[in-house]
Formats: sequence, structure tokens, C-alpha cells
Amino acid sequence: VHEAALSEAIVGAVVARAAGRPIRRIRLRIGAAHRVSLEALDEAVHEASAGTPAEGAALEVETVPVSLLCQVCGAASDVEDPWAACPACGAVDVETRGGQELLVESIEVDGG
Ligand SMILES: [Zn+2]
Repeated sequence: VHEAALSEAIVGAVVARAAGRPIRRIRLRIGAAHRVSLEALDEAVHEASAGTPAEGAALEVETVPVSLLCQVCGAASDVEDPWAACPACGAVDVETRGGQELLVESIEVDGG
């Protein structure tokens, strides 16, 4: 599953960054183009972090919108649904850009 693979990568990255200190909070930036289910990701991270310094850490996710450029009316819009139609005219002939971010923005550790 998408979220399970992601969570392994996230936990690995934050545990390395924490250098053995217990992690309280994980802040992520995830582009809307990844279409991640935040609920599933939250669950997967909690599972993947069991027995690691990230166990029990709170997960905060900032979704980065995708830019949508309408090929019909030319409107540019930021949307959180990469499959959205043009918000201005409703056309589905749109080009999407960006929303590919996937990074650990910051972590909070105990005593750090
Ligand atoms: Zn349009």
C-alpha cells in the first residue's frame, strides 16, 4: 500500500534525524499530487514507528496544492484535488503542475 511504503520512509528519515532522542511531533509537507490518505498515513506511521524513537509521535501534515492551468479559459488555480476540473469554468481540459513535494519539514524531540 502507498501509505505503508511512505510511512516506512518517513519513520526512517525522522529516526535518523532525531539521533536517538524520542520524537514528539513530526511535521510533513505532502503535495496533493500524491493523493495520500492522511488518515491511512497517520495509522501507517504509528505502526511503522512502533519500537522506534518515533513511537507515539504526533503527525502534522501540510498539504501542498497542485497548480491547475485551464486549457479552455486560461485560469490558473491552486487546488488540493489533482483531478479537479477548472474552478473558473468547469472544464476538465486542464494541466496540473507541482504538488510533488514529499518531505519532513521538521521534528520535535524530547530535550531538544
Ligand atoms: Zn477554465
